[in-house]
Amino acid sequence: MTNRNFSFIGGEWVAGDSEIENRNPSDVSDLIGTYAQAGVDQLESALDAARAAQIQWRSTGIEQRYNALMAIGQEMIARSGELGELLSREEGKPRAEGVGEVYRAGQFFTYYAAETLRQIGDTADSVRDNIEIDIRREPVGVVAIISPWNFPIATASWKIAPALAFGNAVIWKPANLTPASAVAFAEIVEKQDLPRGLFNLVMGSGNAVGQHLVESSKVDAISFTGSVPVGKSIAAAAQNFTKIQLEMGSKNALVVMDDCDLDLAASCALNGAFGSTGQKCTASSRLIVHQNVHDEFVDKLVAGAQAFKVGHALEEGTQIGPVVSAGQLQSNLDYIELGKSEGADLLCGGGRLELATDGYFMQPAVFAGTDNSMRINREEMFAPIACVIKTGSYEEALHCVNDTAFGLTSGIVTRSLSRASHFRRNARTGCVMVNLPTAGTDYHVPFGGRGDSSYGPREQGGYAKEFYTTVKTAYIASGDPT
Ligand code: NDP
Repeated sequence: MTNRNFSFIGGEWVAGDSEIENRNPSDVSDLIGTYAQAGVDQLESALDAARAAQIQWRSTGIEQRYNALMAIGQEMIARSGELGELLSREEGKPRAEGVGEVYRAGQFFTYYAAETLRQIGDTADSVRDNIEIDIRREPVGVVAIISPWNFPIATASWKIAPALAFGNAVIWKPANLTPASAVAFAEIVEKQDLPRGLFNLVMGSGNAVGQHLVESSKVDAISFTGSVPVGKSIAAAAQNFTKIQLEMGSKNALVVMDDCDLDLAASCALNGAFGSTGQKCTASSRLIVHQNVHDEFVDKLVAGAQAFKVGHALEEGTQIGPVVSAGQLQSNLDYIELGKSEGADLLCGGGRLELATDGYFMQPAVFAGTDNSMRINREEMFAPIACVIKTGSYEEALHCVNDTAFGLTSGIVTRSLSRASHFRRNARTGCVMVNLPTAGTDYHVPFGGRGDSSYGPREQGGYAKEFYTTVKTAYIASGDPT
């Protein structure tokens, strides 16, 4: 990587006003590099360049758009091994997950490449004589994309790919914890023959450059993924009738019924709760378990949690990497203390692990004896911590699933078709999983939630066009042929 000290603005790599260090959370002695922090003047240049480039791009033929997006996607897929390793080195997820994420990011681009060719509108007859109506979608304009560190390449891709596919310009502010992935991504986009300034990578902190970006009247739409407080502040800051799409936290529940395959239930819970070190907005942090199978399920869960190999993200055999940062680790340990003080039973894990390298390692933790009013069951922890809630009936379990401010995903493990169907219809979440972990979604269908989890139109699949386009209705008098 050659451009790590730069932002990519107006088609040029430019040095920032200052720099930050990027260290490997598996081994803090490993300095990945120093990365630029753009100033507000640079952001302004990016916004102006984006506006000019978008005018050009919106009238660029769809086959050219198709070619550019397809090439970006194919390069990501071809280089998923190398880029996945870089991602894992700076974010901490095991190498296989890093590689899988980059591969998936490539699939978002190849999917939206094809979507450029599917931009078909509607026609209608007017209620007035000799007038035809043409209804089509147009780009919204300049889109600000603010992405988090937990899926640094995939989240950016599921926003940037549709933004470009539907004819918009992009200002991307990545998370400051994962700048290396962002620069590598931008280096791939740079190779395409796009109007200068169509795609801009503005490195910098959320409080400085991010805040200025969301307040700018030069931005037509903002797509954000991250925490609820920042999402709310973005909604409040965007004063200019800016279109907003927010994907935020959650407190996803997996229901384990007494008619289920308990091995399947344990495997769904372990995967959903501890995959990516629990740092997923779709993580199964609440496990609502029927009393008839509670003890047996908990035994399997604890055995599984204790069997995980926690280690350096790039070490062979590692199943759970470190948490992303010292701040996140401290927050996790604070939640362990909070859970104990609330009266939950810590059955395993929850401590910092000292390994061969100096990283932010934590033992996966299971709390039992929790109830849904505890803060550990109400606040997003983003941690390898699962909380078991014992329940007496399906009805009680469903009530508990829905008793939350959030609503991203939920799941049920059961052999009963009627319960599964009832759950699918009555769980108040944007995604529902039956006999599957709450985490793990496809790229060609909508993703999003309800309540404090999401605001604005859905992301991904064909539904993404709601956010990245605006509708124009044209009335055309057919004229008098005589
Ligand atoms: P944030 O919400 O702070 O960060 C997400 C993105 O927003 C980052 O790019 C960040 O930049 C940027 N940002 C921060 N403040 C502003 C602002 N005022 N204006 C514009 N952009 C801003 O999440 P954190 O990374 O701090 O993580 C904290 C918690 O958030 C986690 O523990 C987890 O609970 C939740 N979270 C949820 C995610 C999800 O997928 N639902 C993803 C990530 C976090 P910068 O990196 O420079 O701060």
